[in-house]
Amino acid sequence: MAEYNAQLAAKIDFGPELSLFRIVPNGWDLPHFKAGQFTTLGLNISDKLVRRAYSIASPPKIRDYIEFYIVLVKEGLLTPKLWDLKVGDFLYMSPKTTGNFVMDSLPEDQNIVMLGTGTGIAPFVSMLSQYMNPSMPRKFALIHGVRVSQDLGYRTALIHLSKLGSQVHYFPIISRPQNDPIPWKGLVGHVQDIWKSDAIETAWGFKPTPQNTHVFLCGAPQMIMGMTTDLKTKGYLEDAPSHPGNIHSEKYW
Ligand SMILES: Cc1cc2nc3c(=O)[nH]c(=O)nc-3n(C[C@H](O)[C@H](O)[C@H](O)COP(=O)(O)OP(=O)(O)OC[C@H]3O[C@@H](n4cnc5c(N)ncnc54)[C@H](O)[C@@H]3O)c2cc1C
Repeated sequence: MAEYNAQLAAKIDFGPELSLFRIVPNGWDLPHFKAGQFTTLGLNISDKLVRRAYSIASPPKIRDYIEFYIVLVKEGLLTPKLWDLKVGDFLYMSPKTTGNFVMDSLPEDQNIVMLGTGTGIAPFVSMLSQYMNPSMPRKFALIHGVRVSQDLGYRTALIHLSKLGSQVHYFPIISRPQNDPIPWKGLVGHVQDIWKSDAIETAWGFKPTPQNTHVFLCGAPQMIMGMTTDLKTKGYLEDAPSHPGNIHSEKYW
């Protein structure tokens, strides 16, 4: 059985199955991390520490807690137990943060398109908080796809960022308007539909190309595989430790 080394400081529910978890370390300092990286959370279940990876949604400059954006997988092993936790309860959080889904080494004139499904928006929230700088020429386009509008986590903060200037363009899109109890007046479809349309070109005033843009994909593997295939036909290259590229992806399962 692993020692618990962290505590749940806050849980903020967007709905019954979608929540922000703020975790504080107990007796140790948070590691320095890069926006876009992940760490693991764990609980002892049947005498065994069950750990899962979670992208860090808070920016590196916040030093007193780490925020995660998590969906309840009802048939899953760990998440139903995370949902049983009360504020103040103890759990395990790895003191090691890791991952190559980062943009710290990209040239400042490279533009960034971010496509996230569901909780796959988490690393983008951290990245935007860290790297948004309206005095730089770089443009961002953040495309967030969910089923119904209640699942658009961080929406208020993202609308706010997009209104601060013309650097960040935010495209929330829902795929099941027929299931949405609130009449939705926004975009309908999947994140890929926005990429394939001229929405980004219209917003930026120029077309994203493999020469001027890096594309970050996060969340559902199906979206990532489909987008990667499409991007490669347009001349984008998958990023890998052996050869740097401009397609960066983080598959959640
Ligand atoms: C690098 C990395 C970062 C991740 N970051 C996040 C994050 O920020 N937020 C988050 O909610 N999850 C994230 N995940 C997924 C997370 O690690 C777990 O897989 C998830 O919480 C389910 O755990 P579980 O033990 O409850 O389910 P398990 O018993 O492990 O069942 C896994 C199954 O759950 C489903 N599943 C897993 N993740 C999701 C998801 N996000 N949305 C819908 N279905 C899913 C898949 O069908 C998968 O096969 C990340 C995964 C990786 C590899």
